[in-house]
Amino acid sequence: METRDLVIVGGGPAGLTAGLYAARARLDVVLYERLSPGGQVLSTDWVENWPGAVEGVSGFDLADKMRDHALKFGLEIVSREISGLSAEGGRLLLHHHGGQVTAKAVILAMGASPANLGIPGEARLTGKGVSYCGTCDGPFYRDQTVVCFGGGDTAAEEAIFLTRFARKVYLAHRRDQLRAAAVLQERVLANEKIEVLWSHAPVSINGENGVQSVTMRNLKTGEQFDLPCDGAFVFVGTRPSTGFCAGAVELDQQGFIKTFGDQKTSMPGVFAAGDCCGKLLRQIVVAAGEGATAAYAAQRYLEEHE
Ligand code: NAP
Repeated sequence: METRDLVIVGGGPAGLTAGLYAARARLDVVLYERLSPGGQVLSTDWVENWPGAVEGVSGFDLADKMRDHALKFGLEIVSREISGLSAEGGRLLLHHHGGQVTAKAVILAMGASPANLGIPGEARLTGKGVSYCGTCDGPFYRDQTVVCFGGGDTAAEEAIFLTRFARKVYLAHRRDQLRAAAVLQERVLANEKIEVLWSHAPVSINGENGVQSVTMRNLKTGEQFDLPCDGAFVFVGTRPSTGFCAGAVELDQQGFIKTFGDQKTSMPGVFAAGDCCGKLLRQIVVAAGEGATAAYAAQRYLEEHE
């Protein structure tokens, strides 16, 4: 059975930075990614808080450059979905469709994916007017009306992005204050195409083969009404992609991996980095920093357990 010094699971900014550092340290390292490397950054139109990129950088370009940078130093990237993690005889086992890989150390960097609302019509109309990515689907809504749900950075950024195409963008938020960064709030409120529906929650998304309306409830008055629209964009937070390691490493109540200093998890030899970890701030720069720390901590762990 194949045995590697270090296996990194996930190819977003955390995994790619861990890979870059591990490859530069000349570790025997492989990164497994189920799709193409980049993670959530790939579906981010424009990143303007990556230090040094004064004019901003497209999410796609940043992801591409992070991958190329790690490849330049010899990181091996393999398309493979990991479906299990266990420990056996002092070795870590990563399970996948075709078998198992053994590792001396592991970095978990699977990131997170968009959360859903769980309301009637949402699942049925996903891909038919319900979307979780404005950057991907925005161009389909030229001169149309769309509704965005959420009040965080993603909702604010994506609502602004959607005004490039849509005639009208409603931003429905369940409270009367956005949690997005102040600079994004200012842009939302100054944008004439965006109308914020404060203290409104979606009840159902309606339509036969496409979105025709969203039933909304005003949480202050209890009033319920149908809001006609052509698309519904859901930006209500993220869910960690940690399902396969639930029994192996300790998770918090929301399913994020608990870390205990220097990106250590509850399982010896297993480190975690990026959006799959429980923490205050989920940003590319944080994920990259945690990836670097995890790689260095894994290197030290390997040296101590030679
Ligand atoms: P988030 O910060 O967790 O915000 C989720 C939003 O959805 C909140 O406003 C929340 O309302 C609302 N919400 C949650 N469940 C809901 C429900 N069932 N119904 C209606 N509304 C619901 O998520 P995010 O915006 O996706 O951001 C995730 C992380 O990535 C954050 O750390 C964020 O800072 C980061 N991020 C950063 C950038 C950037 O720096 N440019 C861009 C994108 C994301 P409440 O406010 O009432 O809780």
